[in-house]
Amino acid sequence: MKTLLLPLLLTVLILPAGSSNQEAADVIFVNGNVYTANDRQPKAEAIAVKGERIVFVGSSSAARALAGKNTRVVDLGGKTVLPGMTDSHYHLIGVGERELTLNLEGITNLQDFLAQVKSQVAKSKPGQWVTGRGWIETFWTPPVFPTRQDLDKISPNNPVFLTRADGHGAVANSAALKLAGIDKNSPDPFGGQILKDKQTGEPTGMLLDHAQGLVRSRIPGPTTADVEKEILVGAERSIKLGWCQIQNAGSNISDVDLLTKLYREGKLKLRIYNAVYGPGPGADKLLADGATLDAFDHRFTVRTIKVVFDGALGSRGAALLAPYSDSDTSGFLTQKESELSPMFARALRAGIQVETHAIGDRANRVILDLYEKALNEVPADQRKIREPRWRVEHAQIVSPVDIPRFAVMGIIPSMQPSHAIGDLHFAPRRLGLERLKGAYAWQSFIKSGVVVAGGSDAPVERGEPMIEFYAAVARKDLKGFSSEGWHPEEAVTREQALKMFTSWPAYAAFQENEKGSIETGKLADLTVLSADIMKVPELEIPKTRCLMTVIGGEIVFSDQIQ
Ligand SMILES: [Zn+2]
Repeated sequence: MKTLLLPLLLTVLILPAGSSNQEAADVIFVNGNVYTANDRQPKAEAIAVKGERIVFVGSSSAARALAGKNTRVVDLGGKTVLPGMTDSHYHLIGVGERELTLNLEGITNLQDFLAQVKSQVAKSKPGQWVTGRGWIETFWTPPVFPTRQDLDKISPNNPVFLTRADGHGAVANSAALKLAGIDKNSPDPFGGQILKDKQTGEPTGMLLDHAQGLVRSRIPGPTTADVEKEILVGAERSIKLGWCQIQNAGSNISDVDLLTKLYREGKLKLRIYNAVYGPGPGADKLLADGATLDAFDHRFTVRTIKVVFDGALGSRGAALLAPYSDSDTSGFLTQKESELSPMFARALRAGIQVETHAIGDRANRVILDLYEKALNEVPADQRKIREPRWRVEHAQIVSPVDIPRFAVMGIIPSMQPSHAIGDLHFAPRRLGLERLKGAYAWQSFIKSGVVVAGGSDAPVERGEPMIEFYAAVARKDLKGFSSEGWHPEEAVTREQALKMFTSWPAYAAFQENEKGSIETGKLADLTVLSADIMKVPELEIPKTRCLMTVIGGEIVFSDQIQ
């Protein structure tokens, strides 16, 4: 995104002594163009904060009356203020890792891809692993996967392993495959695929979903210090973009321990609503110990199990009801019912939320079936939380007959608008026009009576709030292009998009009484923007930048210089 050198209009003044009663606010934000996401008072000019909470929302003059002698008054200079934005589907450590390692994002052809990797190989010691992530071939000409032979030419000796942007595939060179013992006779592991050359039967170097683990397990893992740095870099980047909370879509036990340590040390300001991967030891521990709610001044909650149920559309691993339109495969499920169903029943009894990655229409139908079975098996009076607000992450390609089932069961679709504007370049070919009817169907979901929690899936996508907001309302790529049959009627209104990144994620996290709108009594989380995204022309939205981020009344990022 280009840097805009706008005059910086935010100014901070310490008011001279005014009323000095004990009820004086700590900070007052005045002269704002405030969108509250509260239907009872949708617009305001000013917000007063005491401690971590909002104590007043209304006019600037009424807000100023709450000033005491130590009150800080922030003049917003007419800038647009939203409730602190939330990304409902984010991989914080992956975002930090992307910033700190070989970042292959934005490359448009195989030659440039190989050139970048080659320069990394040149910097590496003999035999050292070369790893990176972020490449995506769907925008290359031709749009085909890189192969181990491509990589062997630039790295005959160092093992190379490069993860595709979506994390559901990776390409390895021959040295890496050899270390992992993968050859033409290796069978596909459950929930994964070793792509093989149709003529020779030799592996091509591409490994999908669980097959990636065969190589990844050979790579020395990051140290705790590495992961700590990734968390802090990822959190800092998030705050600068205007995210006040991220909902972390999967973590290990060690990640939870590390996050806890960083909060305890006061190094993390970002709010994190955290899920742990399951089935497995992380989920077992959460089910046994119970949830962690609102720790560290409402910054850290761990109450969710993340299940990954199929692959991704780009690598043809998403599980479909009928074969892909450009292949004879139908994708695959990556978990077994025999392991999920007992865990789901336990989760309902223990008050643990479940969120499941489901991209293909088959994955979505089967997970709804399994949720339904668990909800019937453990009726409301046996659940710790009667309405468990379970989620489906992505809900990307859903058979239209399955869409109403979400509302009936109280299941929340958690969807990523930017996927739709990237995938529009290849999804029609891969799915056929007929199947696009239930694809990225945000408006159909909202009309069916559910809320849609909006997210970015960063680092699969850039992870920027303005790109997501634009994608949701425009449903066109960043140049303004849309493809045939891309269902413009599924775009959302700006009011709906605002809720997708504020009040609806709060609901999807059981936090609607604490945050998600600018209202008296709620936590003072604010995102201040350089333009009025509720009014500017669509193509101006992605150029809008964050000027200030406020979490719990504290200004944690500000572009101002005065
Ligand atoms: Zn994800």
